[in-house]
Amino acid sequence: MTTIDTARLARMFATIATAMSADRDRLCALDGVIGDADHGIAMELGFSAARDAVAALDAGATDPTTLLNTAAKSFLNAVGASSGPLYATAFMRGAAAVKGKTTLDDSDVVSLFQAMAKGIQDRGKAEPGEKTMIDAWAPAAQAAGEAMASGKDLAGSLEAAAQAAKAGAEATKAMIATKGRASRLGERSLGHMDPGAASAVTVIEAMRTALTD
Ligand code: ADP
Ligand code: MG
Repeated sequence: MTTIDTARLARMFATIATAMSADRDRLCALDGVIGDADHGIAMELGFSAARDAVAALDAGATDPTTLLNTAAKSFLNAVGASSGPLYATAFMRGAAAVKGKTTLDDSDVVSLFQAMAKGIQDRGKAEPGEKTMIDAWAPAAQAAGEAMASGKDLAGSLEAAAQAAKAGAEATKAMIATKGRASRLGERSLGHMDPGAASAVTVIEAMRTALTD
């Protein structure tokens, strides 16, 4: 059983920010095909801001909820694109899911993860199949919950989540966008991976690495 404390969550944001910087150009290129080519920049800006904001906190005197709310606020302030409020809501819901806890055990982390996915879905009102980041987040959250319920530890659960996210992002190639900017393209969005689903895979994989390695 892993115990995740506030300092570890702060390092998680640093890991995600590094992954986003490395992935920025690919994400902008994907968004260039069916959107406005800014998704990599938005994600890099958002996670860099979140990383800096949580690094400035005194981890020993801050609970996970406060850290996640700080990340949410800084992400929202840094990002003008639609991914801003979506990820800000994810972290705010994650914060609420672990309220009152000073450290997180395996099932707390899975609850946090599931709350993030639900937050994105509630905020964006996208259903699976509409070619958005929800096509990666929803199956990932479900897979994490199922893995944990079947007796897997956090590493196994987040590995299942990462795999499901990857398959979900891949599946967006065969979808027609009906939410967000790409919906203007209609059938012309077919054949291309949704950038938000692609970045979700990177976020989830970075979370897995940061919380289980
Ligand atoms: P913008 O479209 O404002 O430029 P980004 O480029 O940062 O924002 O993000 C685009 C991504 O946001 C899309 O690829 C999609 O995954 C996601 N997205 C857009 N609208 C929604 C929504 N309503 N629900 C969930 N995800 C959405
Ligand atoms: Mg965009």
